Amino acid sequence: MPETAKLMEQIADAQASEVAKTLASDEEILILVSTDLDGDGRFGGQWLVVTDKQVVIARNGTAKQLIRIPLSDIRSAATEALVGGGRLEIERFSGPTIKIPYSRTEEEKLTEVARGIEQLRDSEALSINTDLSRTRCQQCGRLLPEKNGICPACISRLTTLHRIAKYMMPYRGRVVVLGIASVIATASELLPALVVKRIVDEVLVPVGTIPPMDERLSLLGFLVLALIGIRLVSWGAEWTHGWIVAWLGAQVTADIRSQLYRRLEMLSLQFYDKRKVGALMSRVTRDTGGLQEFLVDGLPYLIINVMMIVGILAFLFGMSVSLSLYMLMPVPLIVLWGAVFWKRMRRHFGKWNRAWSKLTERTNEALSGIRVVKAFAQEKREIESFDRINARARQTGVETELNRGIFFETATFLTGLGVLVVWYFGGGEVLQGRLTLGTLLAFYSYMWLVYGPLQWFSAVNSWMSQAFAGAERIFEVIDTEPEAYSDPNAVAIPDIKGQVTFRNVSFGYDKSKPVLHDINLDVKPGEMIGIVGRSGVGKTTTVNLTCRFYDVDRGAIEIDGVDLRQIRLQDIRSQIGIVLQEPVLFSGTIAENISYGDPQAYFSEVIDAAKSAHAHNFIVAKPDGYDTQVGDQGNNLSGGEKQRISIARAILHNPRVLILDEATSSVDVETEKQIQEALGRLVKGRTTFAIAHRLSTLRNADRLVVLDDGRVVEVGTHAELMTRNGAFADLVRLQQEAAQIIAIKD
Ligand code: ADP
Ligand code: MG
Repeated sequence: MPETAKLMEQIADAQASEVAKTLASDEEILILVSTDLDGDGRFGGQWLVVTDKQVVIARNGTAKQLIRIPLSDIRSAATEALVGGGRLEIERFSGPTIKIPYSRTEEEKLTEVARGIEQLRDSEALSINTDLSRTRCQQCGRLLPEKNGICPACISRLTTLHRIAKYMMPYRGRVVVLGIASVIATASELLPALVVKRIVDEVLVPVGTIPPMDERLSLLGFLVLALIGIRLVSWGAEWTHGWIVAWLGAQVTADIRSQLYRRLEMLSLQFYDKRKVGALMSRVTRDTGGLQEFLVDGLPYLIINVMMIVGILAFLFGMSVSLSLYMLMPVPLIVLWGAVFWKRMRRHFGKWNRAWSKLTERTNEALSGIRVVKAFAQEKREIESFDRINARARQTGVETELNRGIFFETATFLTGLGVLVVWYFGGGEVLQGRLTLGTLLAFYSYMWLVYGPLQWFSAVNSWMSQAFAGAERIFEVIDTEPEAYSDPNAVAIPDIKGQVTFRNVSFGYDKSKPVLHDINLDVKPGEMIGIVGRSGVGKTTTVNLTCRFYDVDRGAIEIDGVDLRQIRLQDIRSQIGIVLQEPVLFSGTIAENISYGDPQAYFSEVIDAAKSAHAHNFIVAKPDGYDTQVGDQGNNLSGGEKQRISIARAILHNPRVLILDEATSSVDVETEKQIQEALGRLVKGRTTFAIAHRLSTLRNADRLVVLDDGRVVEVGTHAELMTRNGAFADLVRLQQEAAQIIAIKD
């Protein structure tokens, strides 16, 4: 017996223990959620607990005002959508209806809660979707930048940094060289000021007895030589540093990107159902790009600047404690200003990002749909709409840059104050003879060396958050369990005979909303099965399960008597061929597309497959024949041509089990006839599942399976089902009537 799926929000842990105290000992909390609005619809929050006996609501987010409703007193629980949110309404037998408002982000959750309450009231097992898309961070409650996204405020920087560092392990030799170069570069940044101090104190304005002129001159020459030496070393170190950093940054991000892509290819369709392809693409491109930028321009300076500040402070305090303290006076101001400021900047960056993605999205849409734009003569409107978005992007860009400018100018102003303080007090000390002029000058140059990294630190914080949030988004994908290609216990069936059995199969994409119920079907090797039913009844779902794109929730599917879940995935996928309603072709030549499943195929095999698919004639009629480039999404081919290429691809693949999912729905009747002929040849000797919109095309199926509402309602041959005059006959009649109406109109 599976454990009941509970819906418990972490955020309400404290409340859970509070409410637990008021419950009977045998009562179990099954649902505990918080809402984001209070009883009056203002931002605040209430929470709601459902046990196996009652519903408990804490009106103002405290356990002091609890409303208890025994499950037996509940007439109904339902959500009502309102503008920008909704209301959970619990109708009681014994009193007025309780209304709990919520904002849009909580809608999905409270819909599930309403369902759960009714299930429990009817003494059913709790069966709700607990795997909700998260819109808020579970830890801090902030709104997430995207659904199920990563909260930039809650990632642990050290853990992420550690993880990134692991990717550098293979290149540790270079990392060590980089470390040495950094130390040398930092040191050579610090030393010149000390030399300058000696030039001033020992050569230009010597203190005490003045040495002879030629001694002073040769010392000057020596010190200047030293300066040149330091500059040379610095140049070498900086150069090495820059080179290794560029190399490492590019290498590490390329490694991460490639690992990310490998994982993306191996992930299940279930993973893709929950996410937008655009958002995943931006992980491969934008997030890795942002990470690389940080690895090259951020991380190395993080280390160098820490060394720098520590080194300089040591020098400064060594030279003069009091002056160092004066110098540090504006530092708290700078740090404070930075902290306040970058918090504000985050909002600007957010706006800026949104404006940009809007711009990209809109451009992409308008240009991909350029045919529609032109067909409706709406170019002008698109241009105006673009200009509006463009103006917005410009506006946010200006605001962001303006604010960034304000930050740096203010920081420089504050530092300037520190410099004045040092001039005043340091100058005083020089006049009183407590400090040499050289020390003051050295102090002066070090000061700028400290302030620079300090400003940088206050800015790098937000940069690091962004880069690491991107890294976390990448790691999230890398950590997702891939499909079971490498299961060592899987049974190898290199030669599938083609017997397919469904035993009491139930399945839902979302566990709480089953699409298929108790499907039973036994398909003999070589049999052709037609699956029919209204759209949305689960035909495609049935074949998706046969390919093991998804695992069944209950029951089992067997191929040749072995549970699908125990067969090597490689063996299943390589012996099942599928032709989809919308043919997908990749950019490349027609020949490459036909041999997609078997790139080693001989050209003669490609031609044979194309001939069987009735594609050969139109292919050779093209100027480039089989070498014709298939454009973006196959744009220079008609729907029927693309479909025939994808059938040729399936023929060449020579699968034991063939799936045709409305393969001929998008072509005209004449082409369909030709394709049907081709398919007639293709289905011989292999198990075939054919889904077709036009029922007449399934005449030569051995058996037809009629689905309704996710259940098998009829099975039989075309003739049998027609004489039975049941669901199938109804479908056929409907289609004939529709065809007649069209014929009359013509
Ligand atoms: P059809 O018989 O038209 O091929 P499908 O098997 O595609 O029907 O869909 C059956 C039901 O499952 C529909 O209600 C559809 O909305 C739902 N569905 C299909 N694919 C998904 C998916 N990837 N995620 C969630 N629900 C889906
Ligand atoms: Mg379908």
